[in-house]
Parts: sequence; structure tokens; C-alpha cells
Amino acid sequence: MNTIDYFKLQAKNLHKDFKTKTPPVNKAATAFLFEYAPKYFDVEMVIANFHIDEENFTLMNAQHVIAKIANFDNWASLLKASPAELELAQLLYDYQHRIDIVGWQFYIADAQSMNREELDAEIQVDIFKKMVIEEDIFDDQVIESYLLKHYEIEISDSGRDRTSTNRVVNQREDWTTKEVIIKDKQKYLDEKYPFGEIPKLTDEKYCLHCGKVITVGDYKVFIDDLDSELIFCPNAPKCDGTVIDWLPVNYQKSK
Ligand SMILES: [Zn+2]
Repeated sequence: MNTIDYFKLQAKNLHKDFKTKTPPVNKAATAFLFEYAPKYFDVEMVIANFHIDEENFTLMNAQHVIAKIANFDNWASLLKASPAELELAQLLYDYQHRIDIVGWQFYIADAQSMNREELDAEIQVDIFKKMVIEEDIFDDQVIESYLLKHYEIEISDSGRDRTSTNRVVNQREDWTTKEVIIKDKQKYLDEKYPFGEIPKLTDEKYCLHCGKVITVGDYKVFIDDLDSELIFCPNAPKCDGTVIDWLPVNYQKSK
């Protein structure tokens, strides 16, 4: 299914969910005009966030809501989008339980100012796949999703131990003070590297923050105010990138 058909189907499903409306059993107990038995969407959240007229919810209204959730101004803009923009939109839509649009825009704006150049939709797709899908670096945030299926996933996922990842993300802003000299840098990485695949000291990575290719073994460690040790870019303190900003070298844009 191409992406536009995918979004059309989403709009149809949302419209279907609205058609389940029945008059509320107890009018005083609900802020809404109707009660719903939705299969796909958190209908009440849609109504509240998009100021929906419950009496007249058309398929066109549904398309508008889906376009907005997918980060477009309206359905017409979605139809005109480039393939890369559509791919990014579908990622934002499908992973809306991991990061919301505002959070993504801040993350990209930050990366752009560090790189001093624009990251187009194609590059953003790569970064999204790496950071949101593979490494799930935003998992310290609780994000509401319009999609009911995400609540089932989140429950079965909640047992995961992600404390080390959270720590790095949460304390990004607090880094500064003391540098720690690490004797056995590989051993330290083996113990502290917050993601799945631990790199070797000779590996190269692309630092999203300073835009330079770095050798992993040159990393630095600093202690922040809360006595936490964080692994930083070798270009620290000039660069405040940490391990979460290291991308595979092939993410470096060709110039
Ligand atoms: Zn850096």
C-alpha cells in the first residue's frame, strides 16, 4: 500500500469509529454528546484536541485530522508531499506513541543548529529510524497516542529496563563539571554503553552535534552535578553531544 492510500485508510477507520456513536446512557457523566465504541482511535481525544463537531463528522473532517496528526497543515498538503516527506509523515504517525511532533521538531532544530544546515526529509527519515525506532532514545517521555493499538503495545513493553538510557537523555542539560579519566576505555564502554550494540574503541561514528566523524575510543567522560557519569563526544567540552548523538558514519551527509 502506498503512503497516501495508507493515510486514506486511516481516515476511513477514524470515520468508522465516529459512526459507532450512540446517545450517552448518563448525559451528566460525559463531556461529549455521544458515546463511542471505537476500534482504532481514541475518539474522545480526537474530539477534544481538534474541536470536532460530533453531530457532523464527515470523511473530509477525518482526512483533515489524519493530515494534522501526520504533521501536515491539511489533507491537500499531504496529497502534494514528496515521497520522502510522506515517508517521514508515516513514521511520525506510526510512532506517535514514542515521540510527538513538537518533540521531533525540537530535536531536529537542535541538530540543525549544531550542523548549521538543514536536514531535509530524507535525512530526517534516516535519523528517525535510528533514534526513534532502533534506539528509542525518547522513551523517558510519556506520549499520548491517538491510536488505540499503541496502548496494547505499551503495556506489554513496560517491563523493559531502560533506566540507563533514560539517565543519559534526562541529564543532557546538566553536564559540565568534572572530567573523569578512564583507564580501560573498552571495559567502561562495555559496562556503560546505553544501547544494544557496544562499539569498539577503533570504530568511527558521526556526531550529530558537532557534525564530525569521531573515533569512539577518544570519548570523554564528565561528571555532572548529580554525580552521574556521562559519555561525551571527543570534542567536548566544545561539543555537548553524548553517546545518544552518535550515528553510523554513513549518516554523514555527502558534500
Ligand atoms: Zn560532537
